[in-house]
Amino acid sequence: MKAEIIAVGSELLMGETQDTNSGWLAVRMPEVGLDLHTVTIVGDDLAQLTEVVQRAWGRSDFVFTIGGLGPTLDDLTRDAIASTLGEPMSEDPELVRWLEENFARRGVGRMPRQNLRQTLVIPSAEAIRNDMGTAPSWWARRDGKTVVTLPGPPGELMHMWTAEIAPRLKKAVTGSVILTRTFKTIGLSEAAVDEMCAHLYDAEGMDFGCYAKPDGIYLRAVARAPGEEVALRTLAAAEREARQILGAHLWGVDEETPQGRVGELLRERGYRLGVLESLTGGLVSGAITETPGASEYFAGSVVVYSNEAKIAAGVPADTIRQFGAVSAETAEAMANAARNAFSAECGIGVTGVAGPDPQPGEDAAPGTVFIASACPGGVDVQKHVFPPRRPLVRGRAVAMALLQLAHELQKAGVEAE
Ligand code: AMP
Ligand code: MG
Repeated sequence: MKAEIIAVGSELLMGETQDTNSGWLAVRMPEVGLDLHTVTIVGDDLAQLTEVVQRAWGRSDFVFTIGGLGPTLDDLTRDAIASTLGEPMSEDPELVRWLEENFARRGVGRMPRQNLRQTLVIPSAEAIRNDMGTAPSWWARRDGKTVVTLPGPPGELMHMWTAEIAPRLKKAVTGSVILTRTFKTIGLSEAAVDEMCAHLYDAEGMDFGCYAKPDGIYLRAVARAPGEEVALRTLAAAEREARQILGAHLWGVDEETPQGRVGELLRERGYRLGVLESLTGGLVSGAITETPGASEYFAGSVVVYSNEAKIAAGVPADTIRQFGAVSAETAEAMANAARNAFSAECGIGVTGVAGPDPQPGEDAAPGTVFIASACPGGVDVQKHVFPPRRPLVRGRAVAMALLQLAHELQKAGVEAE
């Protein structure tokens, strides 16, 4: 069934607030069997908002509005829906009582009259109370179509969706289910993944899409089927084939992250990891410690930004002098020093030039990064040249450092078997 999202708020339109809610919801649409086809951002303007709601109501089975449910006169989502459906709004006495109690419980004084706007409903709408705020949602159903209003504050929206809306949708949505699986690859270009996997694309009931992320190229498989079981079977078949075609390039599926993958491998082998990082300024260790239980395998990290810091952490001064701070040799010496400094089996060294301004005395091109990963089996050093945008270079360097180590650990595991 077709769904669309309307994000309401002039602050979104002006770029002041990022529309994070639409993306969060978009990911969850397939899980409830909905096929999202359009996302619209519209300002707090009744005429424009009504136009957008009317168009959505005309062409979609499910319409989700986000925001514009506040008590103030610029919160117009309810008005636009009432106008589209041609139904009058009236105060719901139960909602009035609930909202008054809500104010009393929070001890914030008498409820301003303005809040009564939030108790308005239309005959086709059921009001769903909001445990985390004052704006109830509407679940309005007519002529086989449904419009759902969701609160704008991300915490409220997520809670409303998970606790109330998703369970209702699972009952209300009929027709085919849509399930997805994402295959995450490294060391291949977008075109290469596309070419290698092209013959998969012919599979019945499947769609594929290829896109680039900081941690490699993703191939996303979308299965449509009359039931969940068939969709899961189709995805499992696609995964078997993708694993065969992509081999060691495939490092993860769906929610797996480079840091999660590296953590698993280190834990399996009983190894510990030390890190010396320069241009990533602690981001590598930041990523590793995102995973609960990282203390089992993560020994520690030193941010060695200056040459003096690198030397103090055990990188030979001669290596830096001879090859430069941004070099394969220095990266390798950093990985080894990281191992020694923390008495760890594995080490990572990351050095590079992040932005358009090279460090004094560096002649490496901006965006150049050297990553060394050291394991008991040996040291691997890779050079990367990323587009020289600082956040991009640093983000890619983190992902690559983790995946490079994961690759080495995996190789070592295969050789040992
Ligand atoms: P509203 O319900 O329109 O009064 O919005 C309440 C709060 O939620 C405001 O701080 C908005 O900026 C925020 N908000 C509304 N819509 C979104 C959205 N799509 N993504 C992120 N924040 C939002
Ligand atoms: Mg608003």
